[in-house]
Amino acid sequence: MPRRFSHLDRQQQVSDLRDTLYDVLVVGGGITGAGIASDAAMRGLKTALVEKDDWGAGTSSKSSKLVHGGLRYLEQLEFGLVMESTAERAFLMKRVSHLVRPLPFTYPVYNTHKHSPWFIQMGMWLYDCLALFRNHRNHKRLSPKQVAEREPLLKQSGLKAAMYYYDCITDDARLTLENAMAAHNLGATVLSRMEVKSLASQEDGTSLVTVWDAWEEQEVQVRARRVVNAAGPWTNQVLKAEQRPQTEVVRPTKGVHVVVPREILPVNSAVVVNSPRDGRIAFIIPWEESIAIGTTDTDYDGSLDDVRTTREDVEYLLEAIRTGFPEASCTEDAIISTWAGLRPLIKDDSDNPYNTSREHEIIEDKDGIITIAGGKLTTYRKMAEECVDKVIGSLGKLAQPSKTSTRKLTLPGAENFQFRKDGEKTINNIVGTTEIPKVAAERLVTRYGARWKAIMEGANNHELLDPEGRVLKAEVSYAIEHEMVGGIEDFMLRRTHLFYHLNDQGLHAGEWVVEQLQNAFGWSPERTQEERDRYGELVSANRSWKEGK
Ligand code: FAD
Repeated sequence: MPRRFSHLDRQQQVSDLRDTLYDVLVVGGGITGAGIASDAAMRGLKTALVEKDDWGAGTSSKSSKLVHGGLRYLEQLEFGLVMESTAERAFLMKRVSHLVRPLPFTYPVYNTHKHSPWFIQMGMWLYDCLALFRNHRNHKRLSPKQVAEREPLLKQSGLKAAMYYYDCITDDARLTLENAMAAHNLGATVLSRMEVKSLASQEDGTSLVTVWDAWEEQEVQVRARRVVNAAGPWTNQVLKAEQRPQTEVVRPTKGVHVVVPREILPVNSAVVVNSPRDGRIAFIIPWEESIAIGTTDTDYDGSLDDVRTTREDVEYLLEAIRTGFPEASCTEDAIISTWAGLRPLIKDDSDNPYNTSREHEIIEDKDGIITIAGGKLTTYRKMAEECVDKVIGSLGKLAQPSKTSTRKLTLPGAENFQFRKDGEKTINNIVGTTEIPKVAAERLVTRYGARWKAIMEGANNHELLDPEGRVLKAEVSYAIEHEMVGGIEDFMLRRTHLFYHLNDQGLHAGEWVVEQLQNAFGWSPERTQEERDRYGELVSANRSWKEGK
């Protein structure tokens, strides 16, 4: 029987990890590592992927969730990056259409703007051109009257025009998860809760990697011909584990988002606002049933494992909203939740993190360790391709890769399913033939793509987990059996977003999830209580900014 992508089949995978000599071991299950693992496995390399926490638990679940061409990079004249990003956006929009969907943006231009609307529009034309007109739709210029009709709460005084254009919104954690699943389906050994502790080069040219298995509480030794360090903000730490003198590749910068209910800021598109403090842009993003507002961009030197939102971050974002939406009553009290992530940017000397390039770098050292850092979610596939090319080049005759490309890879949720074509019909069909409310049906189809059927087929009933009806109880057992969920946090934050959308951060709904986990994994009452307590601490940590000055 094929192994499931599940902790229920974990022991066998750990044995594989122990017994195999891998062509490549990828460290870090964020989008970068998961993308590399799926690419390497597709090209026939014996591949392992280890993640110390859950898939996407690092930065890759804390982005702005935009798959974008990078309009602001035009200002920095990074045309190559824009071209690459728009090409990847077009590809993902077509191939993973349940997870990468078009989102309209409104970019208002006021009389205080350093450029005229005419100049900005030239930039928009360039943006469309560099995308080779493969946007969802080309941009439009709106008059102040048209803006007032579409976004009535947006500040009108001094408004000269607005640009209306499309980028895409995604589910970053699920894009990561589906890449890890794809790697698994292609034969890679893919394990979460496995932390690389040390790396040592062997005389035969392989690396011996010591990994801590937090699930079984044991040490495992892994052998690999090449190791890819894709540890995002932890890249420097992994380099230290290898005892390298060159340990500072990454400059982590913190980005915060706050989440408010739709009624507070009922926008009809994502809206670009400028911070009155430093002129940086922030986005007001319609995100599922809520509005996400972000982001900040500040240097960070705190703990990589406990990145928190501060009161100062919140004030910065609220100030930007008040400037763009003076009539909206968006105060601290309206905030349901926040998230804070670290950009693993390539270290440079610029004073301002906002100006640090978003380009990626791949650094190969002579002992078979390849480090990849920087870049962004949007370009993960291209970055992975380049990195695997490097791995193959370095393996030389040891590898006989097949000539294929992840341009041909179908992620699990896109197997025989195109949301663009089938999505609406499928949602209507679920709503018409079951008791499932529209919002849950929409989430089911956008979260799982083609896999929505498996959840429905495996369900005894269609009971809902949360009071607002976004998630089915059946999703919990599916996530345990088929999505490698190993704790309540995995489910509430990354398989679904109940933590972010619900006022109690899912403390109530989470009780049922804990019970299912206890049954599935045979947890003792003490272990189950530990899980509850940990989640409670996470909820408190998410609110800790309220106590700050
Ligand atoms: P991570 O996602 O952090 O993955 C690294 C993984 O390595 C982690 O899961 C970690 O647990 C694991 N790890 C660490 N040490 C070890 C170890 N010793 N052993 C095993 N595993 C280990 N990009 C876009 O394209 N669009 C956006 O809208 C966007 N918005 C952003 C907004 C913010 C606020 C931020 C911070 C970033 C944003 N980005 C965006 C950038 C993008 O999110 C990141 O470039 C990307 O997610 C980085 O992925 P990664 O895999 O390199 O890092």
